[in-house]
Amino acid sequence: MTSNILPHLKTALAGIELRENEPMREHTSFKIGGAVAAMVLPRSESEFIRALAAMRGLEIAPLVIGRGTNLLVSDAPRDVYVIKTTPELSAVTVDGNALTSACGAPLSLVATAARDASLAGFEFAHGIPGTVGGAAYMNAGAYGGEIGAVATSIRALTVGGEVCELSASECDFSYRHSAFQNAELVILGATFKLKRGDRDEIAETMRDYAERRRSSQPLDLPSAGSAFKRPETGVYAAKLIDESGLRGFRVGGAAVSEKHTGFVVNLGGATYDDVRRVLDHVRDTVYKHTGVQLVPEIKIIE
Ligand SMILES: Cc1cc2nc3c(=O)[nH]c(=O)nc-3n(C[C@H](O)[C@H](O)[C@H](O)COP(=O)(O)OP(=O)(O)OC[C@H]3O[C@@H](n4cnc5c(N)ncnc54)[C@H](O)[C@@H]3O)c2cc1C
Repeated sequence: MTSNILPHLKTALAGIELRENEPMREHTSFKIGGAVAAMVLPRSESEFIRALAAMRGLEIAPLVIGRGTNLLVSDAPRDVYVIKTTPELSAVTVDGNALTSACGAPLSLVATAARDASLAGFEFAHGIPGTVGGAAYMNAGAYGGEIGAVATSIRALTVGGEVCELSASECDFSYRHSAFQNAELVILGATFKLKRGDRDEIAETMRDYAERRRSSQPLDLPSAGSAFKRPETGVYAAKLIDESGLRGFRVGGAAVSEKHTGFVVNLGGATYDDVRRVLDHVRDTVYKHTGVQLVPEIKIIE
């Protein structure tokens, strides 16, 4: 792919916002990441589908992102084309116990809509800072809940440009995994099956989870959430990292959080390499101390 594709892309996407040389650090919760060739910001599903079709026509394989809250992106400028789902792709509708949301909806918005409709089961997602698209891709979860347990179907776009509806079993959800990680499908939206509940109790559960996050997580510093997946042994990565003496371990501007050792935080001016070196050192040291091989949960875009 070469940058002389850009004029063709601009023509094909007339009327859709396209930013050239867009710095990814402005689109990731880590505040890290160099410029990409272009970022397209569709403001409706039809713009989103048009952008994907235009890129397919030009043989561009775009990187689709939501709020960039699970990403570590290289600092080097890259010939990559990004489509970022925007807040305009956030429609949420409720029909009985079913809640349907577009891919760009922040999980907090969906959780609030579920609460307002007295629907229980989505409280776990309220404090996860991503979108429905990113959360379905990651099968995001917290406090015993996860997207795969409440999703009944996911609307997606195939490489061929067809809209399809995948049942939850076709999405192959498991711990921080979904079929979307191995298939070239773009997530357009999701339908969740929730339960009738008491609005005040739902609100109280959401407040409780928010308080637990505030007291245990370094929410005042840029990060991408838990750096590593929970190992199959079931012992939390944070515990293994702490026991390996890595609390506060620092390289440049990146460090293992003092507050929650499962998080790597940007203390200011951290580079991609700083974070990679922290991640590598943590993985190697934990392996040496405990024999457990940690696997990153953060998606690394080199
Ligand atoms: C402070 C903090 C706390 C967090 N707490 C949690 C937690 O409790 N539980 C948890 O699971 N995660 C947590 N996370 C991580 C993150 O918020 C989740 O993984 C979230 O689901 C990512 O959503 P996103 O929209 O930001 O996705 P992005 O980071 O933008 O993308 C993540 C992946 O999804 C893909 N993707 C995004 N949108 C689409 C789409 N429409 N179609 C196809 N692929 C797509 C991207 O290509 C990428 O591979 C936390 C992060 C932070 C910063």
